[in-house]
Amino acid sequence: MSSARESRYRVLLVDLDGTVVDYARTENGALRETHRRFFRTGLRAFLRDFHAANEPLWADYRERRIGLAELRLERWARMGAGPRVATAFEEALGRNVVLFPEAREALRRLSRRSRLALVTDGIARVQRAKLRRTRIERFFEHVVIAPEVGLRKPDGALLHHTLSLLEAKPDDALMVGDSPAGDGGCAQEAGVRFCWVNRTGAVPVPGIPVHRTVGNLTNLTNLTAL
Ligand SMILES: [Mg+2]
Repeated sequence: MSSARESRYRVLLVDLDGTVVDYARTENGALRETHRRFFRTGLRAFLRDFHAANEPLWADYRERRIGLAELRLERWARMGAGPRVATAFEEALGRNVVLFPEAREALRRLSRRSRLALVTDGIARVQRAKLRRTRIERFFEHVVIAPEVGLRKPDGALLHHTLSLLEAKPDDALMVGDSPAGDGGCAQEAGVRFCWVNRTGAVPVPGIPVHRTVGNLTNLTNLTAL
C-alpha cells in the first residue's frame, strides 16, 4: 500500500440507501406507518409479506425485467393494495428517513479532502425527499438520481455520466456503496474501483471485484490519504 496510490481517489461516488441512509430503519418506520393506516392484518405477517413481494422486484429491476413505475405499484398489488397505498408509503419513506449515526460527520470530513458525488437509484421523488429532510446535499458537488438520467444500477454508464459532470476519469474515482450487485456491478462495468461498505459482515459476491472493504463511513475517512 502506498499513499501515492491511494491519493488518486480524488473523487468519491457515494451511494445513498444502506450506505449513508439507514435504509432498514427508514423502511421499517414507513412500513409501520403504512400498516397502521391501511392494513388490518398482523404487523409481523405484513412485514414478511412486503419483503417477500418487494425484494424479488428489485432484483427484476436491476436485471431490466421491470421499470420503477411498475415496481412501485406491483409490490403493493401483491399485498392486495392499490396506488393510493403505494404513494402513501413513498411519502412515509421521506418522513421516516434516518442516517447512519456516523454518516453526517464522515461526509463532512470526506468532503473537505475529496470531491463527492451522490449516485443513487430508486424513485426520484423519494430520494429527493430524503435529501431535503437530511440536508446532506451540501456535501456533494453533484447528485445523480439514476432514473432522472434514464439509467439504473448496475449500468456502468451511470458512473461515466457522473464522472463527466465532474470532469474526472474512472482512475480518479472510488465507488462507495453497500451493494456488491448494484454499486460493485456498475463500478466494475465503468472501470472504477469499488469500496464495499459492509456493515453486516456479509460474504463477498463471486465475480464482483472489491478494492477495499469498510465497516462504516468513519473507517472510510481513516483510509490513508484518501
Ligand atoms: Mg445501497
